[in-house]
Amino acid sequence: MYDTIIIGGGPGGVAAAVYAARKKIKTLMIAESFGGQSSVSAEIFNWIGMVSIPGSELAQKLEEHARAQEGIEILSERVEKAEEIEGGFRVTTGTGTYDARTLILASGSRRRKMGIPGEEEFNGKGVAFCSTCDAPIFAGQKVAVVGGGNAGLEAVQDLIPYASEIYLLEYSDSIKGDPVTFEHIQKSEKFKGAIMNAQTVKVLGDKFVKGLTYKDRVSGEERTLDVTGVFVEIGAVPNSEFLGTLVEKNKYGEIIIDHRTAATSKEGIWAAGDVTDEMYKQNNISAGDAVKAALSAYQYLLQKEKAHPNE
Ligand SMILES: Cc1cc2nc3c(=O)[nH]c(=O)nc-3n(C[C@H](O)[C@H](O)[C@H](O)COP(=O)(O)OP(=O)(O)OC[C@H]3O[C@@H](n4cnc5c(N)ncnc54)[C@H](O)[C@@H]3O)c2cc1C
Repeated sequence: MYDTIIIGGGPGGVAAAVYAARKKIKTLMIAESFGGQSSVSAEIFNWIGMVSIPGSELAQKLEEHARAQEGIEILSERVEKAEEIEGGFRVTTGTGTYDARTLILASGSRRRKMGIPGEEEFNGKGVAFCSTCDAPIFAGQKVAVVGGGNAGLEAVQDLIPYASEIYLLEYSDSIKGDPVTFEHIQKSEKFKGAIMNAQTVKVLGDKFVKGLTYKDRVSGEERTLDVTGVFVEIGAVPNSEFLGTLVEKNKYGEIIIDHRTAATSKEGIWAAGDVTDEMYKQNNISAGDAVKAALSAYQYLLQKEKAHPNE
């Protein structure tokens, strides 16, 4: 039985692994991939200690850091289930089961999808989920950004230097993102306006995207924008399904934590980063909260006299 199993290989999971190793906790880290969501970013400017670093390089450095930790076993697999057993928890992957006294959850989140015809078919062929990464590909093209929150507004900002025309579609009747950013993008001639009460219906195309059909939720009328790019910026979905009801979650599926200790509702389980109800979803915050989680787990194991720190 492990002292702890860390689930996730993003900044949260890696920070937890580094701290678990320092405390000599018998640890298994299970991660489907390394580096986390910002691996796809062209450049990251706010990872503290680095003026800037490409996302792919940060991912590589995170993996290196985890693999350099003595005593941490690493399994590159997807966790399918986590459940309580006598004296701890059992984690199931595609190839086996692993038991631990405690769990540290850092499984992050993934982009929310529109769930409409054409979205999957044209993913990477005009449908995009990362404006920072893909904006240059749409140079001189007409594009639509779906989602009027901060992510949507920032996607418009990213596209302004490249696209020829940009439309913003928002499901509700108001823009949810920062007014300052909205004012800023409205100054660009390329920004052709925000379409409110717009419910996306279908992505059109043959080999590549040729249009986006949406329904005006007030009039019920369907309209089509002849865009060749559709950026989907409608939020994120936490990777928490494999937990079932093991820990308490909010209505978005985010794990509810005590932000002082990173404790979840279940004794012996801590969680950090984008999979939690943390307000700010950022690399440094995931790492910081995961440090809290690892130190809390260590304290818990000490108290239970189940850890054997050689200090
Ligand atoms: C395009 C983009 C750009 C961004 N740019 C920045 C930026 O510039 N600066 C910044 O601070 N933040 C940025 N962010 C936000 C930042 O990436 C996240 O806040 C951060 O990655 C969260 O880290 P995390 O460790 O909590 O989770 P994640 O990064 O989501 O990592 C989750 C990890 O868990 C693994 N995992 C998930 N489910 C399972 C499972 N069932 N079994 C096993 N492993 C699993 C994944 O493979 C991954 O290794 C960006 C996000 C995106 C999408």
